Order: sequence, then structure tokens, then C-alpha cells
Amino acid sequence: MSDYRVGFREIRHCARIDPVAPPIGSIGRCVTIAGVRDSVLSWYAANARDLPWRAADRTPWGVLVSEVMLQQTPVSRVEPVWREWLRRWPSPAALAAEQPAAAIRAWGRLGYPRRALRLHAAARVITDRHAGSVPSGYDDLRALPGVGDYTAAAVASFAFGARHAVLDTNVRRVLARAISGSQYPPQSATAAERRLAEELLPEPEDAPTWSVAVMELGAVICTARAPRCGECPIAGECTWRLAGSPAYAGPPRRGQAWEGTDRQARGRLLAVLREASGPVGKSALDVVWSDARQRERALDGLVADGLVEPLDGDRYRLPSS
Ligand code: SF4
Repeated sequence: MSDYRVGFREIRHCARIDPVAPPIGSIGRCVTIAGVRDSVLSWYAANARDLPWRAADRTPWGVLVSEVMLQQTPVSRVEPVWREWLRRWPSPAALAAEQPAAAIRAWGRLGYPRRALRLHAAARVITDRHAGSVPSGYDDLRALPGVGDYTAAAVASFAFGARHAVLDTNVRRVLARAISGSQYPPQSATAAERRLAEELLPEPEDAPTWSVAVMELGAVICTARAPRCGECPIAGECTWRLAGSPAYAGPPRRGQAWEGTDRQARGRLLAVLREASGPVGKSALDVVWSDARQRERALDGLVADGLVEPLDGDRYRLPSS
């Protein structure tokens, strides 16, 4: 529950007291949007990390690869893999000419390896339907394998300078705190958050920079567990901080369990296949995970996801076509 009031020269976002929907506006104060924007943009101009997918010579393909890799994985782990990926496959056509197994191997330990398969599938679609050039329009991007709302908006903005609201986890957290006064956003993105992000977008010439700047603020200053409010350029405007940083009162938040999970079992099995130069026997997989039921479930899942191909003679390999 929020509204905008057009003042003499500025737009203010005013959060209202609403006990039914606490994540959006429970503080009852107005934030000067123009002031927040200017502060975030100035901070970004002075503090942006020097990342290769932001360089002046970046390509739309490099931006797309970075956005897919960064979806679940921090910058420090993505950067070396991204560099090697772009060195080896500087264009979608270069990746499309390879087997999917090559993409899975190059993905290494980034996690969520279905992203590698989808990126490979996207490279083939780009090569076949878009003459090898990453499309610039949101709808064409959204139609690529593995590209959702966020990735399409991010590539359209950061590679082609389009004006789109880019709503990733970091942006959602900054907006929840600074504007809506809640420590965390809702579990999944809501229509209200999308509306808010769209309404906050500045004019087209600044929109892509604004999007990446808010994302950067969430990644390095307004972090999930320990926000560094003392270094934050909008600390003086932040609704949540000015309200005394009230504790999160929403539903329990999902953790990222890893030890002993099916995800960990899948990772172990896939590592064996990634490191092998050809098919491996089932016995080589059996030794890396002791719980037989969980191991079989994980292996079945990898096969169902197209990440592993079963062969005659109880052998397995990474996908070949
Ligand atoms: S003041 Fe603190 S909580 Fe508010 S946006 Fe900045 S870092 Fe986040």
C-alpha cells in the first residue's frame, strides 16, 4: 500500500501504515525519490566494481552469459568462469557448434548446472533464428531458453540501453528497506514490487545505470545479513533504518541448505562425469555418495533434466547432442 505525490518539483514515495500488508509500507513517511536516485547514481559513479561484463567493449553475448551465471552465484566465483567461457566461445555460434557436454564441463562448480544446458540451447536458438546476434527486444530475449523476466530485462537494459525495471534479489532488498521500510522483500516478487520498481525508473538515458546501481548497492552495501548503513549513500532517506531497523516480521525465510541434500548428491555425481573424458560405469558413481536411495534419486533427476545420458552396459556420460 503506497502512493506517489507529485510536489512542486519532486515525486515522493509515501509509505502508509497498513497492518495487513506490512512488507510494503508500514512506517508512514515520505521518501524523496529524486534525492534517492541522485545519491545512488553518484555513489555508483564513484564505487562501481570494475567487472568485465560492464566494460565499454562488452558484447550482448557477454552480458547474457554474465546474467545467467550470476543468477544464483556470487561475482567472485562467476568472474573466472565467465572469462574462460568468453575466451573459448566469444559468440553464440561458437558455443552452438559444441556439444552440450562442453558447456556443462566449462560450467564447472558454479552450481545449478541446468543453466549451462539452457545457455547452450539459447546459443543454438540465437544462431538459428537471430543470425547469431543476441536479440535486443525484451520479447525476443524472453523467448530464449532459460531466459526469464529478470534476465530479459537485464540484457535489454545493460546490453542495449533499454528502459526496463530490473528486479533481482539485491534490488528487491534495497527497495524493501529504503522505500517500503521492511527488512526483507516478500519471498517471491509481487506485482506491487514490480510497480514500484517501474515507477522508480528514471528517464531512458539514466534507466540502465540506475538499475545496475541499485543492484550494486544491494550486492556490496545493503547486504542481506549485515547491511553497512554507515557507508550507504541513502542512509539519510532509508525508511527502514530511520524507523530503527525493525526486525523482519513476515513468514519464515527459506534457507539455502546444502550439506546432505539431493543438490549436493547431484553435484558429486556430475563432478565424476565432468572430470571423465568419456562414459563412466555406474560403479564410479556409486562410490561418491553412500546413501543408495538418495544417489539413485539424484541420478534419475540428472537424467530427467538432460544433464546426464544413460548408455548401454550401465554406463553414463554428459549429453552429446
Ligand atoms: S541505510 Fe542500510 S538498510 Fe537502508 S538502504 Fe542503506 S544499507 Fe540498506
